Amino acid sequence: MTRSVPEWVGATDDTRAPPRVRARIFDRDNRCHLCHQPIQVGQKWDLDHVKALINGGENRETNLRPSHRKCHVEKTARDVAEKAKTAAVRQKHIGASAPKQTIKSAGFPKAARPKKTSSKIMPGYRALFAPSDQQKGQ
Ligand SMILES: [Zn+2]
Repeated sequence: MTRSVPEWVGATDDTRAPPRVRARIFDRDNRCHLCHQPIQVGQKWDLDHVKALINGGENRETNLRPSHRKCHVEKTARDVAEKAKTAAVRQKHIGASAPKQTIKSAGFPKAARPKKTSSKIMPGYRALFAPSDQQKGQ
């Protein structure tokens, strides 16, 4: 039985976990928490913040898990995308950003063309819409 040790908490979000804490976390889990495959000796691995710092996670031992470098890069991309989405939604919600597009109307229905017989009804009046040259030829 080992002595219990106090949880490591980073002084700031930029504080890196010291090697003894990295080793402790590695011994605790010993596999990638993202793909659940064991981390082989010599394989590059990182400590991943389960809840990312940019999404409100804390820089402390309980929020850190070992992960393969490859898996970690993919998760970081997802975390950044999540942050960008929530930031965009929030900016829109509080009115900090203007809507990107206006609401389009359905438009007006096309007017029916007047009939050619209008001049016969009222003789002496020229038809308002004279048939075009193209239509005369047919
Ligand atoms: Zn992995």
